[in-house]
Amino acid sequence: MQPDPTTSEVPHVVVGGGVVGAATAYTLTARGERVLLVEQHGRGHHEGSSHGATRIFRQGYADPEYVDLTTRALALWDALEARSGTTLLDRTGAVDHGRPEVVDAIAAALASAGIPHESLTTDEAAARWPGIAFEGRVLTHATAGRIRSADAIEVFLTLAERTGLAELRFDTRVTAIEDHGDDVTVSLGDGTSVRTPSLVAAVGSWAPTLVGALLAARGARLPAVRVTQEQPAHFPSHLPDTAWPSFVHWADGDDVYGLLTPGEGVKVGFHGTGPVVDPDARDHRPVAAEVERLQAYVARWVPGVDASRPSLISCLYDTTPDEDFVIDRRGPLTVATGFSGHGFKFAPLLGELVADLATGGEPHPRFAL
Ligand SMILES: Cc1cc2nc3c(=O)[nH]c(=O)nc-3n(C[C@H](O)[C@H](O)[C@H](O)COP(=O)(O)OP(=O)(O)OC[C@H]3O[C@@H](n4cnc5c(N)ncnc54)[C@H](O)[C@@H]3O)c2cc1C
Repeated sequence: MQPDPTTSEVPHVVVGGGVVGAATAYTLTARGERVLLVEQHGRGHHEGSSHGATRIFRQGYADPEYVDLTTRALALWDALEARSGTTLLDRTGAVDHGRPEVVDAIAAALASAGIPHESLTTDEAAARWPGIAFEGRVLTHATAGRIRSADAIEVFLTLAERTGLAELRFDTRVTAIEDHGDDVTVSLGDGTSVRTPSLVAAVGSWAPTLVGALLAARGARLPAVRVTQEQPAHFPSHLPDTAWPSFVHWADGDDVYGLLTPGEGVKVGFHGTGPVVDPDARDHRPVAAEVERLQAYVARWVPGVDASRPSLISCLYDTTPDEDFVIDRRGPLTVATGFSGHGFKFAPLLGELVADLATGGEPHPRFAL
């Protein structure tokens, strides 16, 4: 049989140009691997989970395994900054406050990892960070801060391109994947197809539809990934930029996160409370009652901003039942999904974990299917 002239062969195809796909392409090319990255939308688009100028980096997890992963990620962020000559992490510190059982568990995990941290009274905290109102226990650690997230994705993509080993194809959707056993054929929206022994589906909220059935045919089941449309907002700050740490409020109702995005305001959001949506057919429209609830929260707990003037953001969360990530491989297919609203901080490490699998390594047991 004649080979199909529209089908090329590539060692690795990475589907998804969000932060996980970008970090994977970067890591694979840094290891000398040739990669085709395919993204259905444009470079820097706003349709998934990774857009926007900032994300929180913090080490404050109650689970020691995640604390350890943040330490590994931090070393890799440092290395990426050094390699790219670009500042990607502003070390503003982070503050956690609220429910004592949560904050105490985080303090214990930081202590056992040897990560410096400090407990404060609510009065001490209010004096140090007048933009925030505090309750319950207050804990701060200085290794945290904010990631320049849009810059980070560009750095991953640019460094991958610079090796000459990556081809990046935007506005190109993967329309079908045919599993041949040892390799797959990937059909693209431009009418071409690619055959590869290593397909990485770094497609976030689209994983269940793109690869759920393929994995099932190989006897593996994705956990139920809940796709929601989230609507945090930026609020104009009354205070200088230096007044803002990253913060998490372990509140009695929904948990809340916040951080400054320089030039845009203080971003505040409820964690994972938005409506379930189809990632291909969502309206990007805020739920009015939720905007009001966020404004009421901000008026009470973030006095350093103007709660009356939110600039709304719309983005996707892909949340697994236990908020653990999914990073595993079956045959030629590697899947990375379920980053559950807290994946960005780990991006360079996720690139390593996914690239390990794509090049024949073992899965991290915590994230295996
Ligand atoms: C509002 C918000 C705030 C957050 N805050 C933080 C934070 O402060 N700290 C933190 O650590 N994390 C945070 N997160 C989480 C973090 O941003 C995500 O975990 C991370 O961006 C997930 O990246 P991803 O690459 O898996 O997904 P995505 O960015 O969604 O990328 C998947 C990509 O796959 C593409 N794709 C899908 N199907 C196809 C196809 N068939 N063909 C081609 N391309 C396809 C999509 O277009 C998309 O670009 C936040 C998330 C949100 C939404």
